[in-house]
Amino acid sequence: MNLASYADLAIDLVNTRRPQEDDLSDLEGLRSLLAHRPHLGGRIAHRDLDAMRELRAQLHAIFAAAARGDEEGAVDRLNTLLIHHPVHPQLARHDGQGWHLHFNESGSIPDRYAARTAMGLAAKIASQGVDRLGLCRGEDCERVFFDTTANRSRRYCSDRCAGRPSVTAACSPSAPRVSAPARDGGQ
Ligand SMILES: [Zn+2]
Repeated sequence: MNLASYADLAIDLVNTRRPQEDDLSDLEGLRSLLAHRPHLGGRIAHRDLDAMRELRAQLHAIFAAAARGDEEGAVDRLNTLLIHHPVHPQLARHDGQGWHLHFNESGSIPDRYAARTAMGLAAKIASQGVDRLGLCRGEDCERVFFDTTANRSRRYCSDRCAGRPSVTAACSPSAPRVSAPARDGGQ
């Protein structure tokens, strides 16, 4: 299992908020965020929505600190998250798979989400560095991403924010993809 893959949960959650729109404005939004995460299913209540929004703010602060070069600040915040949401690993075997790790099968959905996310981000940072965490510099954009460029030069969440609508993307079919589909807020 690639622990760092859980870090994508952070991107998914933080990018639910955009200047004119908030995907977590109601329970339906939270359901859709969790829809493709079978280990994060279950009944949800309004207090879960509040907790997820709080977690979103904490994760955003980690990315913001990293983006301004405050590595200690980013790591301190993440370490705090790790303390508050410890993972409870268990080995499991099912559906023809070999033994593999499961995390936090019980507890509230925000707790499970937070534990996986914190662990994923920690693994990501440990293996690739704090400076992989980016915050879009686009006007009014608060989206976050992982910078996978060789020289850590990514500044924007999408070509749209970079002000390069299609020319660059058209140069190569393998032009850098954004980590999350560009779901534009305002038209
Ligand atoms: Zn952006």
